[in-house]
Amino acid sequence: MDFMLSEEQEQIRSAIEKLCIPFNDEYWAARDRDGTFPDDFHRTLGEAGWLGIAMPEAYGGAGLGITEAALMMQTIAGTGAGLSGASAVHMNIFGLHPVVVFGSDEQKQRWLPPLIQGHHKACFAVTEPNTGLNTLKLKTRAVRHGDHYVVTGQKVWISTAQVANKMLLLARTTPVEEAKGTDGLSLFYTDLDRNHVEVREIEKMGRKAVDSNQVFIDGLRIPVEDRIGEEGKGFSYILHGLNPERILIAAEAIGLGKAALRRAAQYAKERIVFDRPIGRNQGIQHPLAKSWMELEAANLMVLKAAFLYDTDRPCAAEANSAKYLAAEACFHACENAIFTHGGMGYAKEYHVERYLRESWIPRLAPVSPQLILCFIAEKVLGLDKSY
Ligand SMILES: Cc1cc2nc3c(=O)[nH]c(=O)nc-3n(C[C@H](O)[C@H](O)[C@H](O)COP(=O)(O)OP(=O)(O)OC[C@H]3O[C@@H](n4cnc5c(N)ncnc54)[C@H](O)[C@@H]3O)c2cc1C
Repeated sequence: MDFMLSEEQEQIRSAIEKLCIPFNDEYWAARDRDGTFPDDFHRTLGEAGWLGIAMPEAYGGAGLGITEAALMMQTIAGTGAGLSGASAVHMNIFGLHPVVVFGSDEQKQRWLPPLIQGHHKACFAVTEPNTGLNTLKLKTRAVRHGDHYVVTGQKVWISTAQVANKMLLLARTTPVEEAKGTDGLSLFYTDLDRNHVEVREIEKMGRKAVDSNQVFIDGLRIPVEDRIGEEGKGFSYILHGLNPERILIAAEAIGLGKAALRRAAQYAKERIVFDRPIGRNQGIQHPLAKSWMELEAANLMVLKAAFLYDTDRPCAAEANSAKYLAAEACFHACENAIFTHGGMGYAKEYHVERYLRESWIPRLAPVSPQLILCFIAEKVLGLDKSY
């Protein structure tokens, strides 16, 4: 059992840290204020070739694993970019996994290189307002007319839809009452044609620079050649990408938690109250020490899940556990960082309030902590399915 990062993995970490230097806490605080998408950050990573870290070499990617992608995302978030930085590129890194696995050569040639080069931005449209986590019941309809489909429906919380020119869309091709098992949904990767797709931004708690939206689709024409794989099998294709997505978001949460802890420890050393640094008090030390342990333990689960995935082994229990543990550890680290800063924890100047607002995202999405607990209870412990 080897817990050490390889030389290549260490190099990834330091190269990403270097690239992120111009995009410091002040940069992200400004984006959080003005809400503009961090195009320059996205471009910098694209030009340096990092957006293709986990994409096949045949299409311009680096062909590395989810372990390396997770390290990269953790490093980005850990510089203080948090979920704003991570979410700005998250979709490029692994979002098109269903295309890599189930797409035709022609589709990969058409879609992967521009995404890897940073010329295309894609959003991922699954969640719907009336079905929530019960994805198999989603209602957005794609009806086939000869060589194309016509799509009508509604999505919610779709991140980056303000800036994306492409959309990975899960839509129903078989009416729900006729669908068998997990069949009946189809997956498309297509142009986000704003003549037929209205995107309304949701005002939200944090990560203002990376938009999330209500999406109204009305008569969107999708050519058959933009359907991934077989009609009706879209849910199973999405399932393939769920574990790596959980691993990535877990890694991002660890990065954010570490950024909070670093700031807290620094402030605890510098802030003098009662004639001594506040960090000399156990009441300050212990919560931070506990957060360090929680983050490190969660990170081991992230790396284990990534290792299992990269070696083609089942990893659903570990990927879900990593997402759960990392999100909770991140949240507690951000909360402890605010307590350590006292009143200044509430001031934007010290950044930890921004971190705390962003720490809610890995808790809530892409799957809730409750549903992860349900999954572990059922699939690992053999208890009855509760949902
Ligand atoms: C910032 C942000 C960005 C997002 N980006 C995207 C995106 O790009 N694309 C996309 O498709 N989606 C996105 N989402 C959506 C996200 O994946 C969903 O919000 C999440 O899956 C939960 O779905 P829901 O909000 O509909 O919750 P609901 O399904 O309405 O659930 C509400 C609550 O009830 C609980 N609950 C429901 N059923 C049970 C049960 N049987 N047992 C126990 N508890 C239960 C849930 O755990 C949850 O706490 C994003 C969300 C956020 C907040």
